[in-house]
Amino acid sequence: MKTEPLIMICCCDFSGQVKGKAFPAADLAGHLERGIGWVPTNAQITTFNAIAETPFGALGDLMLVPDPGAELRLDFGDDGPFEHWFLGDILQMDATPWACCPRAILRAALDDLKAETGLQVRAAFEMEMQFVDDSETRFGSGYSLTGFRARQAYGETLMAALRGAGLEPESFLREWGPGQYEFTIRSQIGLQAADHAVMMREVARATAARLGQRVTFTPVLDAGGVGNGMHLHMSLADAQGRNVSHDPAGPGGLSDRAGAFVAGILHHLPSITAFTAPSVISYARLIPNRWSAYYNNLGYRDREASVRICPIADADDFAAKTNFEIRACDNSASPYLQMAALVRAGLDGLRKGMATPEPTHENLSALDEAGAQARGLRRLPTSLEQALDHLDADAQVRSWFDAPFVDLYLLHKRGEIAHVADMDEAALHAAYAQVY
Ligand code: GLU
Ligand code: MG
Repeated sequence: MKTEPLIMICCCDFSGQVKGKAFPAADLAGHLERGIGWVPTNAQITTFNAIAETPFGALGDLMLVPDPGAELRLDFGDDGPFEHWFLGDILQMDATPWACCPRAILRAALDDLKAETGLQVRAAFEMEMQFVDDSETRFGSGYSLTGFRARQAYGETLMAALRGAGLEPESFLREWGPGQYEFTIRSQIGLQAADHAVMMREVARATAARLGQRVTFTPVLDAGGVGNGMHLHMSLADAQGRNVSHDPAGPGGLSDRAGAFVAGILHHLPSITAFTAPSVISYARLIPNRWSAYYNNLGYRDREASVRICPIADADDFAAKTNFEIRACDNSASPYLQMAALVRAGLDGLRKGMATPEPTHENLSALDEAGAQARGLRRLPTSLEQALDHLDADAQVRSWFDAPFVDLYLLHKRGEIAHVADMDEAALHAAYAQVY
């Protein structure tokens, strides 16, 4: 059969869905320059494909312009077809950034951080997912060789696909939950880290599809079951890319600058959870005893802290490898918006010279509200509705973004809530499992 290759220009929308348009590969040169047409109301298509309230209606035009530095070629070494796509920016017709382009929003946050502090962010997105066609669900297979073996062929295909796409895979492991696996790739500085997060999720999905399997990144697959988290590892780097996050004398081994950055994140976390854990189902995960996060605390080696200082095995590596992971994140989000909100919050901590929070060392699930308050801890939102209300009412967080982004985002996410409002628990979990 005769075929002609297609190339797609993509963006990652408010709900973390990768969308775009394809064209014949022979026309690449022209599209690299002028992109492809895009529509403002596309931003309001929710994860369930319903269109949330839109201030644009049928009006307006935008351009989706590929970034030659964010190209993905996916070759499984079989008969194809081979995926070839670019991530790009959503521009206005005069070629200036659109205020609601998630990638531009992250770039602006990183630029401001660098301009004001000279600092860059190195980041890696640690992904958990579950096979929905699970053939290996017996209890006791968490971390097991049996569990690994069940998906070894998948894992090895994934590693080759990631490496072929230039993404430097680092790990693949059988996680604890039924059919649950985790994988990581090497950290990158700045925007590229978020580009790679978008790509690695898609490579994982494409690998599954190629093998006749399906993975889901939904934050919680089964009611009461284990969560699929995303832990966003970050460290601060100087202009030369050297890690400046460590100070042996600082609380938890964090430098003053890293501590201020983390303090800013924790201070603003209740309002930016709307970006880091942005679906209705996200809030089935952010509860105690799930190894996720529920207070805005810094934890030292604590897997239920919103921000966890990660251990480093080799003491010689402290300076180079110190990093903290933000656990109140999941894969129903746009990596650009997650990282942008965290960078903006961290920058605020740096501007104000916030002190490194005292790391908590114990199980906080026993705390009541008064106890938490006494320790200066705030509970993270317990529903998407509440998270959006916090964001809506937070003038400072709003001021980090150009209009109409926050209002548009709120409309989008409230549209998502409305879509699932009448579903029972089982239907809700099934709906999210299908779209992520
Ligand atoms: N599955 C947990 C989560 O929802 C994380 C488990 C772990 O520490 O890797 O974030
Ligand atoms: Mg894990």
